[in-house]
Amino acid sequence: MTSVALLGLPHDENSSFLRGAALAPAAIRQELYSDAYSSWSETGIDLGAPGRLVDHGDLRFDDSEDAWRTIEREAGAILATGAPLICLGGDHALTHPIMRAVHTHHPALTILHIDAHADIYEAYQGNPRSHASPFARIMEERLAHRLIQAGLRTVNDHHREQWRRFGVEAFEAAACGERLPVDIRTPVYLSLDIDAFDPAHAPGVAHREPGGLTPRQVIGWIQAIGQPVVGADIVEYNPNRDWDGMTATLAAKLVKEIAGVMVCHRG
Ligand code: MN
Ligand code: MN
Repeated sequence: MTSVALLGLPHDENSSFLRGAALAPAAIRQELYSDAYSSWSETGIDLGAPGRLVDHGDLRFDDSEDAWRTIEREAGAILATGAPLICLGGDHALTHPIMRAVHTHHPALTILHIDAHADIYEAYQGNPRSHASPFARIMEERLAHRLIQAGLRTVNDHHREQWRRFGVEAFEAAACGERLPVDIRTPVYLSLDIDAFDPAHAPGVAHREPGGLTPRQVIGWIQAIGQPVVGADIVEYNPNRDWDGMTATLAAKLVKEIAGVMVCHRG
C-alpha cells in the first residue's frame, strides 16, 4: 500500500504582515481527523485506512539550529522512505528548505505553484527569506526544472522581470479556467498557498486578495496533473483570520485530495 506522509511546520517568522500561520497545522488536523467528514478522496482512496496517511506530527524549532537546516533534514528523512510528503505550513518561506530536500530525492521536477502572489521578489523588506521570496531562492539554486505559477492577481514589473530571468510560466487569475493548459513531463511538487482561493472560500489568510480561484477549480487542476506528485505544501492558512474554521475545513479537504492523487498515480 502506498503511504502518504504528513508533516506540520509551525513556523511563520518570515511573514511580512501578520503572524499566525504557525497555528495552522493543529487547526487543519482538527478538521482532517474530525468525524464530521468522509475520509475518502474524490479519487476513491480511503485516507482513514490503516497505514495510508502517516502523520509525523509537527517539527519543533529551537535556537540551537537554523530552521532551514531542521526542515531540510527532517523532510529529507521522510522522503528517503519513498513516501510522498505533504507539509502543512506555516508561511510560504518554508517551501525553500522543503524544496532543498525534495530536490535531493527528485532531481527532475516541475513545481506547480498556486497562489495569489508570485512570491519571487529578489528580497522583500530586506529579507531574502521572506514569504514573498521563496521562488527566487528555489530558482537560483536550480531546485526545479520548471516553475509554473497559477492564480496570480498581484503581479508587478519586478515579478515579470524575475519571470524572464528564471523562465517561469505564469497564469494570472484572469487566464485561469477549469483546466491549466500545461503538458507536464516530470514528477510534480505542488505548492499551494491558501490565499490563491477567493477570500469568499478562504478568509483565513493574512493577505486577502479578491478575484480568486474556487476550490472546484483547484481540485480539478490537481486531479488533472497526470504525473506522480512526490511532494506538496499547503501554506499561509492563518487561523487568527478565519471565520468559524471554514478555511481549515478547505485546507483539510485539500490534504485529502492531494493525498488521493499521490496514491492514484503510484498505484
Ligand atoms: Mn499568497
Ligand atoms: Mn505565497
